[in-house]
Amino acid sequence: MFETLKRRRPQCLAFNQYFAARNPSPCYVLGKGLRDIAAMSVQVLAAKMAEVELKDVPGKELTPESPLTPKADDKGMVENEPKATSATTPTMEPMIKTGDTSPGFLTPNTKMPQASAMKRTDPQQNGGEAFVNRDGTVAEAPRLKKQIQFADQKQEFNKRPTKIGRRSLSRSISQSSTDSYGSAASYTDSSDDETSPRDKQQKNSKGNGDFCIKNIKQADFGRREIEIAEQEMPALMALRKRAQGEKPLAGAKVVGCTHITAQTAVLMETLTALGAQCRWAACNIYSTQNEVAAALAEGGFSVFAWKGESEDDFWWCIDRCVNLEGWQPNMILDDGGDLTHWIYKKYPNMFKKIKGIVEESVTGVHRLYQLSKAGKLCVPAMNVNDSVTKQKFDNLYCCRESILDGLKRTTDVMFGGKQVVVCGYGEVGKGCCAALKAMGSIVYVTEIDPICALQACMDGFRLVKLNEVIRQVDIVITCTGNKNVVVREYLDRMKNSCIVCNMGHSNTEIDVASLRTPELTWERVRSQVDHVIWPDGKRIVLLAEGRLLNLSCSTVPTFVLSITATTQALALIELYNAPEGRYKQDVYLLPKKMDEYVASLHLPTFDAHLTELSDEQAKYLGLNKNGPFKPNYYRY
Ligand code: NAD
Repeated sequence: MFETLKRRRPQCLAFNQYFAARNPSPCYVLGKGLRDIAAMSVQVLAAKMAEVELKDVPGKELTPESPLTPKADDKGMVENEPKATSATTPTMEPMIKTGDTSPGFLTPNTKMPQASAMKRTDPQQNGGEAFVNRDGTVAEAPRLKKQIQFADQKQEFNKRPTKIGRRSLSRSISQSSTDSYGSAASYTDSSDDETSPRDKQQKNSKGNGDFCIKNIKQADFGRREIEIAEQEMPALMALRKRAQGEKPLAGAKVVGCTHITAQTAVLMETLTALGAQCRWAACNIYSTQNEVAAALAEGGFSVFAWKGESEDDFWWCIDRCVNLEGWQPNMILDDGGDLTHWIYKKYPNMFKKIKGIVEESVTGVHRLYQLSKAGKLCVPAMNVNDSVTKQKFDNLYCCRESILDGLKRTTDVMFGGKQVVVCGYGEVGKGCCAALKAMGSIVYVTEIDPICALQACMDGFRLVKLNEVIRQVDIVITCTGNKNVVVREYLDRMKNSCIVCNMGHSNTEIDVASLRTPELTWERVRSQVDHVIWPDGKRIVLLAEGRLLNLSCSTVPTFVLSITATTQALALIELYNAPEGRYKQDVYLLPKKMDEYVASLHLPTFDAHLTELSDEQAKYLGLNKNGPFKPNYYRY
């Protein structure tokens, strides 16, 4: 049942299980009264199945780096681990009290939490591909943030490229980074209409035409998608309720560039409920859910995005968001840094009015740190990527759910009794091991770090060296963030039909290049599934060509995205309301108190009851009763 639900909606299974336990009726699992919608989706999908053509979108060609793209040879920059820009960490004073559940939660708080360290974690990289799910839905790697070649400053938008002149998508896309997530792919394929949205006169039912999307007629369908997402985004819905009467973002003019999905729509509508005006473009040319963009346009949002934009369209859409007479943004919400870059290059004067930047992706944050390091960052920026709650959800909980989803969708493997080796017992490895163990698999772990190794032992896993089990295992999963963990020698020794996949860093963990030799035959058996066949007939099943399995082959639960979206909303509120001088022209991590607040907003979903400190206990621990409850160095 969960598998079926999962394939239909990118929801969090743990959350669904909770709902299922409380409300055995399946309609509650998808959201009250939404059974019809699920049925409709299936019909639409069934119709699409006939049209869908299995195709791979090459995504590996590199385009030149942007001026803001980190350079590998930058002094002091360690690959994959950008350094903070300064030794001293800025102090912050959040506007929001973690423990405060009163409607006055947005009032200023005088408590000064400790500054957050600015160290960051490994960026992930990945190539993105289109894929067709086995149930027929088309999912074009929507969670992959495509790194797009920055348009030349001299690019003239009025000089419209001809259809032939537009660069083909497959060639225009460079290496993709997986540092940001969207969610489900669009359920309404747009291939039936070849006319570029830029060539259409568009108006919503109220006569407003300040948007550019694929097809406004899909608005009703998109609205239902948004309603479904709302079910899994309790914190944003709670923020909306609490902000009734209070408008912490009144006067905020937010220009956003993120994946345009149902989850983003919930965020945009929340920001509007909090008082903001929003204009939005997509940060990824493939990930826009056209029907959701339509619903937003119908709802009066100025949204400029459609699925399958060209590079030129991409920059045109961003430009339409910011280049408007009589409207200037004062807040930026970015995912990948493209919007920020565009404003820096084309409209630097805008920064006089901009109060802050909220950036979600590893890549974008990296760029901000570089700007800051070069002394070029002219407004405060909030790094939401590295907040504790978001990291936990991205690494541990999301992987715990999506490893099974990714394996199942690609191979239909039965997990019970299978021997699996998981390389690396960090956050991602722990998630994978827990999920597989729960499904009845026999799980082995490899580790280089004795602490993590001991943790694996204490959690009941056999700690082994890879060469000890490589001949017998049915599935090999890498989660190390390292390179060449599974090399040709191991691939040669694997048994027939062994499944090999990666949940860790980019496509470096498995030495896929070593399999491109003349004696081995590659057979593409499904999208994202290759059989690599040895001369004696032995074959291994390689998933997503060694790139991140879950981001290439499954979906991110809406609940995970809810954490991110709530963090973004709170960061915007904080930066927008911060008094002059609280934040300097630097990159800040979210104060721990806000992180705690994001988590606390998600607790009521589970009918969870948080214990409050007594005065005596608070004094004993030296804590404020409203948090923060842990020092910054605390490891959760
Ligand atoms: P982590 O540092 O907590 O864990 C990695 C573990 O691998 C460490 O314990 C390390 O000791 C171990 N290790 C390193 N080299 C090894 C080797 N050769 N053999 C065995 N063990 C080895 O990191 P994490 O948070 O678990 O993330 C791991 C990777 O997954 C990173 O590259 C991260 O970017 C990526 N990631 C993927 C997703 C996803 O959705 N798939 C989500 C978050 C992070």
